[in-house]
Amino acid sequence: MPKPRVKVAWFDFACCEGCQIEMTNFGEPFVQLLQHVEPVEFREAMSEKTTERINVAFVEGSFTREADRARLEEIRTRSDIVVAYGQCAVSGGINALKNHMDDYSEAVYGKDCKRPHLDSQKALPVSAAIKVDYEIPGCPMDKAEFIRVVSQLVHGTTRVYQPSYPVCMECKRRETVCRYDDGDHCLGQVARAGCGAPCPADGIPCEACRGFVDNPNEAALAKVLHERGGLPKKWADTKSRMFAANQRGDA
Ligand code: SF4
Ligand code: SF4
Ligand code: SF4
Repeated sequence: MPKPRVKVAWFDFACCEGCQIEMTNFGEPFVQLLQHVEPVEFREAMSEKTTERINVAFVEGSFTREADRARLEEIRTRSDIVVAYGQCAVSGGINALKNHMDDYSEAVYGKDCKRPHLDSQKALPVSAAIKVDYEIPGCPMDKAEFIRVVSQLVHGTTRVYQPSYPVCMECKRRETVCRYDDGDHCLGQVARAGCGAPCPADGIPCEACRGFVDNPNEAALAKVLHERGGLPKKWADTKSRMFAANQRGDA
């Protein structure tokens, strides 16, 4: 008798849903994955919803409203495994920029800024509300990494590896010319590796979209961004907020 497929569902909170969209672009690897997993809820790709027990719940987006806590807890209660995927879910991601601004709402939404659904609190990771078993970082998350993690979960692996070394190591392995040597700047020294350093290879700086390594040297980063990267001091000091606002020392 064929083994029953693992029931998986995707849920979204405060985010652009770009990680879900990224998954719909998987092509053949995703089709192969469907031999082992059965999607039961996936807003960007199907209209069905489920209230049944789930083997793996993938949660995208930040926790920004206390009103979302009950929904997150309900997902946790009926899921064997909860995976936070995409940087919004893992650390608060780009949403957490607002945690450092007082006056963003009117500037962004204009006269609509008082509408009830825009009333939100600090942008926090999903783990601030519920227990998360695994995390897949990135903005958007990396397709190959997603397949690897799902494959490990389907095969019963209890520990999913995340590199704690910086993107610079992967960049050097590719023999990419350093952005600093091209008169540019880059955050690769403190960015968590695992993506394979595609951005410097394409001639653009790493923005640390996977968040920081453990114990990043933020002072050294700001110094090199200013002294070698040519960024004004204030900009150099705050540059890494883009994707790591909740991971910085001033979070
Ligand atoms: S991590 Fe990036 S791509 Fe994914 S939902 Fe958040 S903002 Fe969108
Ligand atoms: S380009 Fe960026 S990631 Fe690559 S070595 Fe230089 S600082 Fe590191
Ligand atoms: S190189 Fe940097 S910005 Fe590009 S995908 Fe990797 S971590 Fe993200």
